[in-house]
Amino acid sequence: ARRALIAGNWKMNLDHLQSIALVQKLAWTLKDRNFQSDTVEVAVFPPFTDLRSVQTLIAADKLDFSLGGQDLSAHDSGAHTGDISGSFLKALACDYVLVGHSERRANHSETDQVCLAKVQAALRHSLTPVLCVGETAEDLETVGQSAVPVAQLTAVLEGISAEDEIVVAYEPVWAIGSGTPATAEQAQEVCGVLRDTIRTLHGDEQADRTRILYGGSVKSSNIAGFMRGADVDGALVGGASLDSEEFAAIAQFE
Ligand code: 13P
Repeated sequence: ARRALIAGNWKMNLDHLQSIALVQKLAWTLKDRNFQSDTVEVAVFPPFTDLRSVQTLIAADKLDFSLGGQDLSAHDSGAHTGDISGSFLKALACDYVLVGHSERRANHSETDQVCLAKVQAALRHSLTPVLCVGETAEDLETVGQSAVPVAQLTAVLEGISAEDEIVVAYEPVWAIGSGTPATAEQAQEVCGVLRDTIRTLHGDEQADRTRILYGGSVKSSNIAGFMRGADVDGALVGGASLDSEEFAAIAQFE
């Protein structure tokens, strides 16, 4: 069975001091709730400037949290002002890195080609890329729910191998930050189609091993429904990951 992954994408929230407070509170809250981490992995994706503080706290208190960056450069080093290399994330004990979040695709013109180059860069540095895919409200009207996420995933699968480890996050753009999540049935259906896409292109082993998350207005009040989907292996949580009580409840699917 795939281990569930509950991931908090903090986006551009919390400076390095605030990041410490949240991670500390989250650790206490999960401990209070007697959280069992053997079946659920909890990961946080803070802004770059917080990573050192969060890494230090995780190591000092031996916290059971995975760590990831929200983006990386497609390049390894050199004249790329303002960009961050996957090697820097790896050196800060990151396990994961988000690639192709819809906010990056929209605000920084990240195409499928750019996303593939970033996924390849992550894999070069032994980071697990969390590839974000999803349709806009307009896509939903014109081509339906799965066409765009399948195309975005396919573009990346064609440039990596069946041995590579990735995580896929299905995030309908219309559900992000809107308070209107997909239904549990919609999420399961698209996650199932995404798993079929992996199976067709790369075979059973990668299809059965790859974790597929749902993201978009996930809260403690709707997580249980999403987690009942056979192909939904966890959640990528934005706003609700900034509240330790709420995020801890999500990590327990309650
Ligand atoms: P919200 O949970 O705030 O809708 O954000 C989802 C998201 O974009 C996570 O990457």
